[in-house]
Amino acid sequence: MNGKTRAAVLAQSGGHAKPYAANAPLRFAELDLDAPGQGEVRVAIDAAGLCHSDLSVVNGDRVRPMPMALGHEGTGIVEALGPGVTGLEVGDRVVLVFLPSCGRCTPCLSGEGYLCEAGAAANGRGELIGGGFRLHECGTDVHHHLGVSCFATHVVVDQRSAVKVDRDIPAEVAAVFGCAVLTGVGAAINSAAIRAGETVVVFGLGGVGLAALMGAVASGAATVIGVDLAPNKVALAGELGAIGTTPDQLDAVMAQHLGGKADVVIETVGNARVLAGAYTAARRGGRVVTVGLPAPEARLDLQALSLVAEGKTLIGSYMGSAIPARDIPRYVAMWRAGRLPVDRLISSTHRLDDLNEMLDAMDRGEAIRQIIRF
Ligand code: NAD
Ligand code: ZN
Repeated sequence: MNGKTRAAVLAQSGGHAKPYAANAPLRFAELDLDAPGQGEVRVAIDAAGLCHSDLSVVNGDRVRPMPMALGHEGTGIVEALGPGVTGLEVGDRVVLVFLPSCGRCTPCLSGEGYLCEAGAAANGRGELIGGGFRLHECGTDVHHHLGVSCFATHVVVDQRSAVKVDRDIPAEVAAVFGCAVLTGVGAAINSAAIRAGETVVVFGLGGVGLAALMGAVASGAATVIGVDLAPNKVALAGELGAIGTTPDQLDAVMAQHLGGKADVVIETVGNARVLAGAYTAARRGGRVVTVGLPAPEARLDLQALSLVAEGKTLIGSYMGSAIPARDIPRYVAMWRAGRLPVDRLISSTHRLDDLNEMLDAMDRGEAIRQIIRF
């Protein structure tokens, strides 16, 4: 049975004047939603979070095919199953994930489904991994954002884009597991593989960076330093078992608390200049994990010699190097145990129609995770 969904649609990537509240790059429209196809499910969304990667599609840092229904961090209840769905039932709560894995390409066969070639190609085309579009407006196809498009009352997604979680998790908490937590905690636990007693610096304390900071604390790091421009985020780092600081004070804070450089540095700003600074904050033999997504034309300026002579490792981390069906339940269990207080990432809750104002708050660096409730 075909249906309808009310969704936030972007017509053009880049070229929108600020403030977004006045110029409204996102339009709220009733779209036609196909019935779930082979291996697909329809989900009634009840919470979705705004991530910087959504803002990057709006401001043109991440150019995507248009028109596109945005949103990639969300949760909801399964309400219909397409043919061939296994392991999900109507009524299940699912967390949506932003890269489905095919299980057959070389990265998938190497245990690196977070680099799936078919999933990345489908995301680049703005299609579901099964091919094509389930969203249409007056006969025109509307592209899917990262196979999810969850700034919408209802979505059709591939079953490989959905991870079942316990029904009792509050929707606004479940939502952040889909991107901020999967990405940030995974950067600390999977990509950096932080060992107990190590020292860690996290650059950028948005949803992703604060989740990385929580992951570092939960990994038993001896000292964790979080760096951001925004005083409220620096203060929150202090409440989460880390030391918060602004960039101008970082050298002094590192000298005082680390006596030098860090074992592990995690960059979550999405700026190549900040990444170059993060690289220099790692000790000889240190590991530098980069999570932020700079504009495609940005180039990284590093002293080439230092990689060898200082034995550093630079690690790119997409989706927290996660196996979502393995890692989301683990992170939920850590949240239940009080070791990942991810509810602290939620800075405000909103209605779908607030999205243009929410883009402004993220652009100004004020908000952490702003959550839409449906
Ligand atoms: P955000 O905007 O909420 O957070 C970025 C933070 O960086 C802000 O708090 C901002 O104040 C801070 N910042 C800006 N300039 C800084 C500087 N010079 N020094 C220190 N801090 C500075 O964004 P987010 O949603 O947390 O996402 C972070 C980045 O990660 C974005 O680039 C996003 O596109 C990317 N991302 C990557 C993945 C992945 O799989 N690798 C997944 C999600 C998001
Ligand atoms: Zn995201």
